[in-house]
Amino acid sequence: MTTPHRIVIAGGGTAGWMAANLLAHRWANQAVTITLIESEDIGTIGVGEGSTPTLKRFFQTLNIPEYDWMEECQATYKVNIKFTGWSGNNSHSYSHPFISQLDIFSERAFHVNALTRRLGLDVETQPDKFLLAGYLAKKKLAPLPSHNFPFDIEYGYHFDSLKLGRFLRERAKSKGVSHVIGNIESVHTTSSGDISHLVCQDGQKFAGDLFIDCTGFSGLLLQKTLGVPFRDFSDNLFNDSAVVLPTPACANLPVETESVAMSNGWRWQIPLRNRTGNGYVYSKQYQEKDAAECELRRALGMENTNVEAKHLSMRVGQCERHWEKNCLALGLSQGFIEPLEATALHLVQTSIELFADNYSFGATSAQQRQIFNQEVSERFERVRDYIVCHYKLNGRNDSDYWRDNRANMKLSESLLSLLDVWYRKGDIVEEIKRQGIGQHFSTTSWHCLLSGYGIYPPPALNQPASLKESGDLFEEKKLAAFFNRCSLNFDKQSTLFRAG
Ligand SMILES: Cc1cc2nc3c(=O)[nH]c(=O)nc-3n(C[C@H](O)[C@H](O)[C@H](O)COP(=O)(O)OP(=O)(O)OC[C@H]3O[C@@H](n4cnc5c(N)ncnc54)[C@H](O)[C@@H]3O)c2cc1C
Repeated sequence: MTTPHRIVIAGGGTAGWMAANLLAHRWANQAVTITLIESEDIGTIGVGEGSTPTLKRFFQTLNIPEYDWMEECQATYKVNIKFTGWSGNNSHSYSHPFISQLDIFSERAFHVNALTRRLGLDVETQPDKFLLAGYLAKKKLAPLPSHNFPFDIEYGYHFDSLKLGRFLRERAKSKGVSHVIGNIESVHTTSSGDISHLVCQDGQKFAGDLFIDCTGFSGLLLQKTLGVPFRDFSDNLFNDSAVVLPTPACANLPVETESVAMSNGWRWQIPLRNRTGNGYVYSKQYQEKDAAECELRRALGMENTNVEAKHLSMRVGQCERHWEKNCLALGLSQGFIEPLEATALHLVQTSIELFADNYSFGATSAQQRQIFNQEVSERFERVRDYIVCHYKLNGRNDSDYWRDNRANMKLSESLLSLLDVWYRKGDIVEEIKRQGIGQHFSTTSWHCLLSGYGIYPPPALNQPASLKESGDLFEEKKLAAFFNRCSLNFDKQSTLFRAG
């Protein structure tokens, strides 16, 4: 290649800087220039503080050690999501722990017990009893085992999103990415429909071969310029708003996000080292903005403080195509499935990775784009189904919001089929395999959701008294003893990081 391939990234939120870093790393030995343009006036969304375990791979790929970025971003470890109040009983909670290598010893027992319980026998089915991360979460242990612990542990992070953006910006610049501050005023195309260049308010012009749209909800390049339609998910994901309010840091730092059901949505509680992030995600159709803020303040005991709340609107859905002509959209401009389960950065990262695998400098075919678009759309839809299932199964009766979610039958074929198998006492493990959807949320994750909620028929009468002790179905005491012994290899997160 004689002239360098020019990549122009529009937008400097987390998506833009993740893309800049990953592509600069992946194509370090290619003749490539990367320029990122961001507007100081528009700013970034400034939320997005929880991740899935995929983010660990992001830092490993870039050879960025945890001590380098975690301190700067006030980050903590995350091994679990705790759902409180979703079943209808405000004191009931269940866990969705991240699954580690060690769990191969107990996952099957979990699946077998779930089936047994569906058949009417009263056996243990709470997810945290079967998975190491459930124990770590309860004991607030950081997922860093002593050096002789032989199993890999999966975990994600909580972090300050603004600080993470800044960290990634400096890192990308040190790897040769050019950073431009400017407001993109117009986007120009060639006669074939490709984007040729962007023009900023100050007249600067940026030509490129590949354009990456990371302009957030405004979708300036892919949607507004190339006209790719946006398919919203409002049929089965009702939330379109959020109100955010920080509280002081917890002294004994948890290693889990808590998602607590509210009257018309849910609120997250994310422990950072210097503060706790809180946000109430709700639907404007069911609750006014001011009422949502009051409810959040009340829940946090913040009614009488003047800490300012931040209100946000969300656009939930995905673009019909994520890669069109010479433009790829990433982050909020490609789509968003609301924050439950914190999947947004996971989708950004996996989209960039897949794109880099498929992109050829010089001549990219329509077929490559089509394969990519199908794969990414499928990921969005299957992640959406998992999130939708949380709402569909709710047992709350305190508002129309929850009743309407429960009554909603506008579900995908895939989700309807899964629920049908579950309720018919069929083999859910086989159904997930048949649909080929286990790579999005694993069989065990589905069990966490369905079992955790307690979606079971009433247990049959005349249960054998010795069932739980029988050892055939679930050796509860032995498994607890095993996980408790494993837990001795981990330290409390608060001994690693001082909160406050
Ligand atoms: C309430 C809420 C909670 C969330 N929680 C999570 C979570 O827990 N975990 C998770 O993974 N994700 C979460 N997300 C999603 C997450 O915030 C985003 O995926 C992530 O921050 C990436 O955003 P972005 O970079 O796509 O967009 P933004 O942060 O909005 O960045 C857009 C960029 O585009 C630039 N820009 C826009 N227009 C122009 C223009 N004309 N000229 C120049 N520059 C321009 C802006 O300056 C900015 O730099 C949450 C989102 C919301 C709304």
